Amino acid sequence: MTEEARDIRQRRIRRVVIAGGGTAGWMAAAGLARALGKVVDITLVESEEIGTIGVGEATIPTLMTFHRLLQINEQEFMAATQATVKLGIQFENWRKPGHAYFHSFGTTGKDHWMANFVHFWLRGRREGVAGSYDEYCVELLAALEGRFAHLPRNGINYAYHLDAGLYARYLRRFSEALGARRVEGRIAAVETDEASGYITALAMADGSRIEGDLFIDCTGFRALLIGQALNVGFEDWSHWLPNDRAFAVPTASVGDAVPFTRSIAGTAGWQWRIPLQHRVGNGIVYSSRHLDDDDARQALLDGVDGEPLRDPLQIRFRPGKRLKCWHRNCVALGLAAGFVEPLESTTIHMIQRGIVRLLQTFPDVIDPRHVTAYNAQLDDELQHVRDFVILHYHVTERRDTPYWRMLADMEVPASLRERIALFRETGNVFHAPMELFAENSWIQVMMGQGITPRQYHPAAEVMSEADLARFFDDIRRSVRTTVDTLPAHMDYIRQYCPAG
Ligand code: FAD
Repeated sequence: MTEEARDIRQRRIRRVVIAGGGTAGWMAAAGLARALGKVVDITLVESEEIGTIGVGEATIPTLMTFHRLLQINEQEFMAATQATVKLGIQFENWRKPGHAYFHSFGTTGKDHWMANFVHFWLRGRREGVAGSYDEYCVELLAALEGRFAHLPRNGINYAYHLDAGLYARYLRRFSEALGARRVEGRIAAVETDEASGYITALAMADGSRIEGDLFIDCTGFRALLIGQALNVGFEDWSHWLPNDRAFAVPTASVGDAVPFTRSIAGTAGWQWRIPLQHRVGNGIVYSSRHLDDDDARQALLDGVDGEPLRDPLQIRFRPGKRLKCWHRNCVALGLAAGFVEPLESTTIHMIQRGIVRLLQTFPDVIDPRHVTAYNAQLDDELQHVRDFVILHYHVTERRDTPYWRMLADMEVPASLRERIALFRETGNVFHAPMELFAENSWIQVMMGQGITPRQYHPAAEVMSEADLARFFDDIRRSVRTTVDTLPAHMDYIRQYCPAG
């Protein structure tokens, strides 16, 4: 290795350059500015002419952790982004046309230390003393009845629907107030050091250069740094996730926002409905091999309630992930790092995980062991998300179109195949600590898609039939009492963030 290359590799990280100002770029700027702004220079480069993807409006509860790290005031954030509350997702027509089930963010029933609530419920169903699985979860019942409030004791688990454009603007103000510098302009080229392969600067179209020690690629599907400059390859997952296009269109609200996302399966994809304070976000995600663009666009417009506020915008994507999200002195976040389609609203979460991990391993000097650990951990997390999303497509009774027949019959990753087989046989789900979706999420979706486990844990046999009936009645009553205290969701939001 030459002296020069060694110098670059041993350079202390004092200048971080973020390429791209979409959700990923501004989340990275905000996280870095809040945590390390006093010791590291942060510059973000974005191009208004190129713009952002502008979709990504549903989140999951982990965003709360990120906001706590940033010390964001919830009322201010919700007012600034026209946010509403999301208590889960209603999946319609996924198991079969006309059927609906709910994946809530709450806990269902009460677990025993030996066995999840589902085992007791399975016995309760067999004995005829348990109601529907949905009756034992506060968040689920509250969602279906359109209610919400913050609850002091044991809380209520929720996330947000938000306007992605307003969120980026909000985070920009936040980051700039903490000292992050924004540069407007188009990146024309990425300069690298020949010997080390490290990125040294972004060459801008106006002739200026932005030098840095660490570069964060948030340039979206273009992946200008990690893909185009560093040639890091891409692992394609389209054989499991065939959807590769979307149309998105906002519509005027026709009533108060419900506190959940709707995901409505169609003949070759699905449609989302995300209600915000000021409008509704709608979209269709589909497989271009099974549905042509005009039909997809029309299906979207036929499926919305309110007046479209602009023409539908088409987005093309490729499901999969970068072989390495961190390579040399470049870390990719957001769409530049990879994309699992938005069925479970996980991309913003993966951005946040990338930022938090980067902060936790933040190098004084880049150490290859950090890089390897970072890549391995993010890979595990993303594969878990991928499996969870594939589950919705694969376990289905639908056989009505070539699209659904292909998905039901395909070979799925071994990790998923084993999880499904174990649940089908025993009612158990094993959950590793770093996995995003916990037992209750897997159980709700597996049962919602049509799996009823063949056995349950013997712990469920210990209670007498009368005690078991009382157990279910007590939980049902407690859930009902809690939900009855909650006001209508939008009445609460209007009072909580009056600027909205
Ligand atoms: P982008 O928004 O594309 O930003 C790229 C940035 O790079 C822009 O600022 C652009 O100007 C800049 N840039 C690019 N090239 C240059 C250049 N040459 N010079 C200067 N600047 C440049 N996620 C969720 O969590 N929940 C959801 O509900 C959800 N729904 C989605 C629905 C669809 C159909 C799709 C496709 C994605 C969805 N996502 C969702 C993902 C979400 O959109 C992204 O995670 C999020 O928007 C982050 O995008 P980004 O910042 O990586 O890229």
